[in-house]
Amino acid sequence: MDTFFHPDQLLHRPKSYFSRGQMRAPQEVPERAERLLQGVKTLGLPIVAPDDYGTKPLLAVHDIAYLRFLESAYRCWHDVSEDWGDEVMSNVFVRDNNALHGVLAQAGRYLADGSCPVGESTWRSAYWSAQTAIAGARALLAGKQQAYSLCRPPGHHTRRDGAGGFCYLNNSAIAAQVLREQYRRVLVLDTDMHHGQGIQEIFYDRPDVFYISIHGDTTNFYPAVCGFSDERGTGAGLGYNLNLPMQHGSPERVFFDRLEEAERAARLYEPDALVLALGFDIYREDPQAKVAVSSDGFERLGRTVRAFGVPTLVIQEGGYHIDTLDLNLKRFFTGFLG
Ligand SMILES: [Zn+2]
Repeated sequence: MDTFFHPDQLLHRPKSYFSRGQMRAPQEVPERAERLLQGVKTLGLPIVAPDDYGTKPLLAVHDIAYLRFLESAYRCWHDVSEDWGDEVMSNVFVRDNNALHGVLAQAGRYLADGSCPVGESTWRSAYWSAQTAIAGARALLAGKQQAYSLCRPPGHHTRRDGAGGFCYLNNSAIAAQVLREQYRRVLVLDTDMHHGQGIQEIFYDRPDVFYISIHGDTTNFYPAVCGFSDERGTGAGLGYNLNLPMQHGSPERVFFDRLEEAERAARLYEPDALVLALGFDIYREDPQAKVAVSSDGFERLGRTVRAFGVPTLVIQEGGYHIDTLDLNLKRFFTGFLG
């Protein structure tokens, strides 16, 4: 199996984030990726740096104004000679069609919440994380049955024009769109602890990419504003969005009940290719977990995904219990690779 990762993905090092009324210590840190790389190495899989595919695949799912903001925000922020913090984080929230004069207003427009500070290397790391996703998709287009894109920072919360939830570019959506070059029907199965509202938004009116998400109930839980079971798609995309929330405190069994439901829907869709948005934050000891999936559970998830029997790209999303990331990755791929 081809595994992709670029060393510049380690450069992004957020200093803090703002969530539920508090400044908090960052959880989405470079050590996550280092630990995941260790797991890949113990499996004996070669790690390849992605080629640079440029910004066209990014622009296929993101607005150019948003990309311009992300690329320039840190510079512009530091051009203002005030007592501002090092990272771009807005304390103003833009609700109307504002002229967006200045980086402070732009940050209010393009940062959807307090958990996506933009630092000196954020654009660079997010860019290479996206290239890693594209390289994985291109491996499938070249005939590979399986690939793993070790994306960091993660991506599934990124809107068409907004960062959020530790995410800056929507790696899974970018990859799914690249796969569409050759595959008529692409399924994105998202088993991260959180609902991937960015993927949902990007493909909400389209039947060619079916988004199925299994996640913690989003009532008072990130992303809080969507992820409910009655969000089913719109227009031609009606029915091609399936949210399968789990009640907080659910045992592992509930996760696999939802996975079975996802499998049944997927079978009827008959996808030509699959993107698995894989989060290890459903692990029972993860600081973000509201359910209790075990290490055995990841191996079972791997086997289940393998049984779909279609070309599959695994994209790394969340997972914040650093000490077990390598083990859980190993268990997942033990099941997935058979
Ligand atoms: Zn997550």
